[in-house]
Amino acid sequence: MTMHEDLQAAIRQGDFLLNWMPVLETGTEHVVAFEALVRWKRPKHDYVDPNVFLACAEERGLIEDIDRWVLHQACRLAQEWVQPVGVSVNVSPAWLATERVAATVATALQESGLDPARLQIEFSEKGDFGPAESAGRELARIRALGVRIVLDDFGTGIASLERLINLPFDQIKLDRVFVSRLGLDARVETILRSTLYMAHALGMTCCAEGVETEEQLGFLDAHGCEEIQGYLIGRPTIALPDSQPPGSI
Ligand code: C2E
Ligand code: MG
Ligand code: MG
Repeated sequence: MTMHEDLQAAIRQGDFLLNWMPVLETGTEHVVAFEALVRWKRPKHDYVDPNVFLACAEERGLIEDIDRWVLHQACRLAQEWVQPVGVSVNVSPAWLATERVAATVATALQESGLDPARLQIEFSEKGDFGPAESAGRELARIRALGVRIVLDDFGTGIASLERLINLPFDQIKLDRVFVSRLGLDARVETILRSTLYMAHALGMTCCAEGVETEEQLGFLDAHGCEEIQGYLIGRPTIALPDSQPPGSI
């Protein structure tokens, strides 16, 4: 069996897991959300790196089915959490052009009963957003549901500044390549300071990924970065801390 055939079987059987990664609000030092990260144990193999099987799913036209499963599962589980914190779901920009993303989000909200204000959708800047017009329409429809939209992996893709003008993002998520070089390369501090200034001036908030040290947290907090994620706060885990229900199926 090739990887895409195994993936097709996994989609039919809903054979995926979710891991949860906390998001800390720097101002309050409270965990305000959890990001859902999909996991797949390939039959007769080990867990496959999500970057590998998601790339295969995109190539073979299977990504919509996986993202749909994750959206429904994440909304359903978040609705059962003890604390009504936020839930963040990654959706591949590869199927924005189908103009089916907003309808899928609406169905997941309806079926789970989740408050739309608790949900945010992350689109990676590394992905292909398709024609700007259809991407703009879809993102506007998602926001009209009351769901927030995040530009993930900011600084590592292409045409990011043009997207900031044309598409209605609520938050920029700074890629961890920048955070990991804080303190080692003065140019990285300049890029982070400028990006935070630009995001705030455009009415968006910032979340920094890959925070592993107190020094990195201190810099980001001092420069007004509203949210952070990374191993310093918590690694992706199957169960939420504080006796939250498990995030597994
Ligand atoms: P992402 O959304 O940018 O998620 C962050 C990735 O960085 C995660 O890897 C996480 O484990 C890792 N990470 C976070 N903090 C740290 C840190 O402090 N240090 C280090 N070394 N790593 C950190 P993961 O889980 O392998 O996910 C990789 C990518 O796969 C995600 O990047 C996301 O783009 C994609 N992905 C995950 N779940 C889904 C999904 O359900 N749908 C879609 N379309 N994409 C997904
Ligand atoms: Mg993400
Ligand atoms: Mg990212």
